[in-house]
Amino acid sequence: MEGGVKKKIVKDIKVDVDKCTGCRSCEMACSAFHVEPKYSSINPARSRIRVIMDEIRDEYVPIRAGGYIQAECIGRNIYTVNGKEYSECSFCPASCPSRDYFKEPDTGLPLKCDMCENIPPLAEPMCVQACEFDALIYEERQEEVDQEEEQPEEMETVFASLVKKHGLTKVTDSFARWSKAKK
Ligand code: SF4
Ligand code: SF4
Repeated sequence: MEGGVKKKIVKDIKVDVDKCTGCRSCEMACSAFHVEPKYSSINPARSRIRVIMDEIRDEYVPIRAGGYIQAECIGRNIYTVNGKEYSECSFCPASCPSRDYFKEPDTGLPLKCDMCENIPPLAEPMCVQACEFDALIYEERQEEVDQEEEQPEEMETVFASLVKKHGLTKVTDSFARWSKAKK
């Protein structure tokens, strides 16, 4: 297959864990933005950003949903940052079987951050706008990428696995609602 390189805008949100207070405004803003109709309700369980919190250890880690994986990890990492030991999974963005984060509460379907892609585009994603403590900083940069990506194959695997778990009707209904919300 013909290859090629093109430039694309890569959108990033830098997270300063030390500045996060655990206020969860980012979760509320994200869930309100993505509900249909927009802003009609707030439910952090539907948010594509979740703050992994441990108040006793004074740990607050905002994580954006990175997508679906079929199996939980066999081994997990423990991170020590500035003397604090972060619990396993604290930095993981996966919608995985071992925890409830990043699953649409009604259907169990995986949630994934879409950087608030919208028409017209937002100046900054909703979670960044909502964070009064500058724990989330939005950045854009240009990157060279291969033109052909293997996205369709990955999508097929995810779709097949969801149909197996939830049944075809439930999955297609949810995709229909999702694609309507994207218009
Ligand atoms: S809005 Fe900012 S400070 Fe509040 S929980 Fe989210 S990232 Fe942390
Ligand atoms: S960028 Fe948008 S979709 Fe992603 S977590 Fe933030 S508010 Fe949610």
